[in-house]
Amino acid sequence: MEQGIIVWSDSGVCLMHNDRVYDVLELRPSDLTVGTKREDFLGAAVNRGEITKSQMHDAQQRFSAQRPFHFDRQLPSGRVVTTNIRPVRGGGSVVTLTDVTIARRNEAELTKAKAAAEEAHLTAQVALVEQQVQQGTARILAELDEWLQTCKSLDELFLIVRTFMEKTLPGSEGELYIYSNSRDVLDGACGWGHEKLHDHIVPDSCWSLRRGRAYTYSTETVSFHCEHVNAQHHDPAPDDFICVPIIAHGDTVGLLHVRLKDKCYLDTNVLDAHAFTLKCGEHVSLAVANVKLRDELRDQSTRDPLTGLYNRRYFLETMRAQIALCERKNSQFSLIAFDADKFKSFNDNHGHDAGDMVLRAIGTKLTEIFDKGEIPCRYGGEEFAVIVPDTDKAAATVAAERLRTAIESVTIRYGGKALPPVTVSSGVATFPGCGMVPQDLIRQADDALYQAKADGRNCVRVAPDLE
Ligand code: GH3
Ligand code: MG
Ligand code: MG
Repeated sequence: MEQGIIVWSDSGVCLMHNDRVYDVLELRPSDLTVGTKREDFLGAAVNRGEITKSQMHDAQQRFSAQRPFHFDRQLPSGRVVTTNIRPVRGGGSVVTLTDVTIARRNEAELTKAKAAAEEAHLTAQVALVEQQVQQGTARILAELDEWLQTCKSLDELFLIVRTFMEKTLPGSEGELYIYSNSRDVLDGACGWGHEKLHDHIVPDSCWSLRRGRAYTYSTETVSFHCEHVNAQHHDPAPDDFICVPIIAHGDTVGLLHVRLKDKCYLDTNVLDAHAFTLKCGEHVSLAVANVKLRDELRDQSTRDPLTGLYNRRYFLETMRAQIALCERKNSQFSLIAFDADKFKSFNDNHGHDAGDMVLRAIGTKLTEIFDKGEIPCRYGGEEFAVIVPDTDKAAATVAAERLRTAIESVTIRYGGKALPPVTVSSGVATFPGCGMVPQDLIRQADDALYQAKADGRNCVRVAPDLE
């Protein structure tokens, strides 16, 4: 027999029991005999710490109530015994005592195993969500990259950034700023979610530019507002915002500023808005770097390094494009060719470096005077040309005359003294009157230029229309 058995009388006295009781409850024979009172028997169990006092009172009440019940007790050895009480008709009750240590241990292990399985399931789910988030973010950023990589100019890039931010961070507001060439201010390049893009901001007004890394402002932490945000929004309860420096080839070239409004929400499959904005900053940086590099390379192939003017190659391409355009629109354009007078002797007298300074000054003057779509080029050593779109011979002659007097009055200081003025001789030719192909137009303008030289230099001559 595996179980211990005790029969209690109606008044709670032991009427009989088997010997197995001693093994199951780890008792000595003197602990339970026929005639032992249940109260004493249970009291001893309380003393051994197997049950609590209240459990004992509860049990006594249930014995009296003559209803079946059971309870567990843990023996000092650690074994668990369950006590099952069944009332018998006519009074008294039969108690069976069963060692359930192994069953309980198995139950505990089963519960533990279930909890572990649940935890593993949860971890797997979290990992899956994280993976989806990463994939979602990567997908959106890859889309941004694809657009950014195909853009041809900074203006196109700004349009892409604005549209992308509007779509992927709905409800957010922000701006992209790019350092001006003078680097004392940043110019507003594009904005979204509002109409308040600054024309300029100063670098010192942004913590991220001052600290050289991304800056997050949160109403929930101790952080300070950037002045450029204050200046823009006189808002007593500011939103959280992030400023990310835009870095191209190691140089800070701009700033991406994003305000995260309460209503701003994200596609559930991407990172939180902060992390996402930081990522966008990285990708925009790379794109700005690429476009700038492309611009620099294009400049290198189309610009003359000494004067910054367009070079001969670009000049010839533009001539062809102008001719095609004017043929289509049935309009005209003019060409002003000019050459520095007696420049060889200028070099001989003042040195080649002084000569270079003069050429640079001529370049600067040209870009100052011709800022309405004209294309000033350095055609050769001290020879220049300006393509003047939509201009007839008379207006081009006026422009050439204005250029001649402007160059004549340029003062250049070199080696502590002012250099003598340099003059230019010009020839003007006009499409289509003076020729229909670049070579003819250039030859006609050159012929007029030589005529100006022959006529004593520092003057403008105009090519006649072809018969
Ligand atoms: P003219 O009035 O007839 O044009 O006389 P010129 O001396 O200017 O004519 P020429 O064509 O004989 O000389 C051009 C000079 O321009 C020769 C060359 O030393 C100078 N030159 C050409 N390119 C450069 C340059 O990049 N830097 C400097 N400093 N001088 C240049
Ligand atoms: Mg020359
Ligand atoms: Mg010359």
